[in-house]
Amino acid sequence: MDLIPLLAELGVFGSTLPQKYGCAALNNIAYGLIMQELERGDSGVRSFASVQSALVMYPIFTFGSEDQRNYWLPKLASGKKIGCFGLTEPDFGSNPGGMITRAEKVDGGYVLNGAKMWITNGTIADVSVVWAKLDGVVHGFLVEKAFKGFSAPETKNKHSLRASVTSELILDNVFVPESHLLPNTSGLKSPLMCLSQARYGIAWGVIGSMVVAYTTALNYAKSRIQFSKPIAAFQLTQAKLVHMITEITKAQLLVLQLGRLKDQGKARFTQISLAKRNNCEIALDLCRISREILGANGILDEYPVMRHAANLESVKTYEGTHEMHTLIIGEDITGFPAFE
Ligand SMILES: Cc1cc2nc3c(=O)[nH]c(=O)nc-3n(C[C@H](O)[C@H](O)[C@H](O)COP(=O)(O)OP(=O)(O)OC[C@H]3O[C@@H](n4cnc5c(N)ncnc54)[C@H](O)[C@@H]3O)c2cc1C
Repeated sequence: MDLIPLLAELGVFGSTLPQKYGCAALNNIAYGLIMQELERGDSGVRSFASVQSALVMYPIFTFGSEDQRNYWLPKLASGKKIGCFGLTEPDFGSNPGGMITRAEKVDGGYVLNGAKMWITNGTIADVSVVWAKLDGVVHGFLVEKAFKGFSAPETKNKHSLRASVTSELILDNVFVPESHLLPNTSGLKSPLMCLSQARYGIAWGVIGSMVVAYTTALNYAKSRIQFSKPIAAFQLTQAKLVHMITEITKAQLLVLQLGRLKDQGKARFTQISLAKRNNCEIALDLCRISREILGANGILDEYPVMRHAANLESVKTYEGTHEMHTLIIGEDITGFPAFE
């Protein structure tokens, strides 16, 4: 929590959005580099910034009214308010279109009922962007923490993303005023557009974890002596280090080009899936190789590698699992949807 005002001061939150809302108006490559550097520290810190920016500020900016933008965006940019994004449900993860959470129209607003699960920032959020079906169509609602019938218990005992709060959202007859419906959404496509934003940031972010895995292994290999030589002097170790730096370079070039396309409005969601899928998988591979180079020391929390590896297990799963991105790309190149 103590990092939030510092990150806000640096302009991290909603950094690609316009200055009139208190944001930094950066391009997508600068945004990506921010994600990379935050995740070099910890994926949990990057997750906080990703959710605040791509899953809360982006939908308010894209689907919200001017009143909603003016009210929420400066508060979220300055970190005075925290947000979360509630799409996943206990029984609907990879298939969010099946969601059970419902909104019913009543005088002056809506009544929401349902439950969301695995929600980053949920317990600490002042506002939740909750996706619910109204007459069978998915809509976005801004649910404030104080609304009666709303609660957000924290999910405990995680082995992954321990620096990030994960929660359930419970909506028990929650009255949401008309002013809190996002007016410009268009069904399930709208939350999926938010996920594309977040996936783009993840594809950059995980490179931060790769860099930590690589630099930790390189430094260790240069100083660890076995058979009277630094282990970095053995060809097998060098092959591992060369593989790591090659994969980091490829991952960076992939997102650099994706960022250029995104700045031109030409990035397709399938290209974002390709980058998210590849970079998460490679980041996990590189953590494992780094841990190998560290030998037994690699399992200690004195070194950051296992923490990053454990974090990446979540990052590989959230915002669309590795398998779902495989199916998205598979459909794009073959024309055959293989989801069902
Ligand atoms: C730490 C963390 C934070 C998260 N934060 C958020 C958040 O802020 N907001 C939010 O809405 N959600 C969040 N999520 C939820 C995340 O997006 C889901 O976990 C993810 O979409 C997968 O859903 P699931 O866990 O229900 O897995 P399931 O959908 O049950 O999938 C289980 C396995 O089956 C595979 N599978 C499913 N369908 C198919 C298929 N058709 N073909 C082949 N394989 C298939 C999956 O790939 C996976 O391997 C978070 C998750 C974690 C772990």
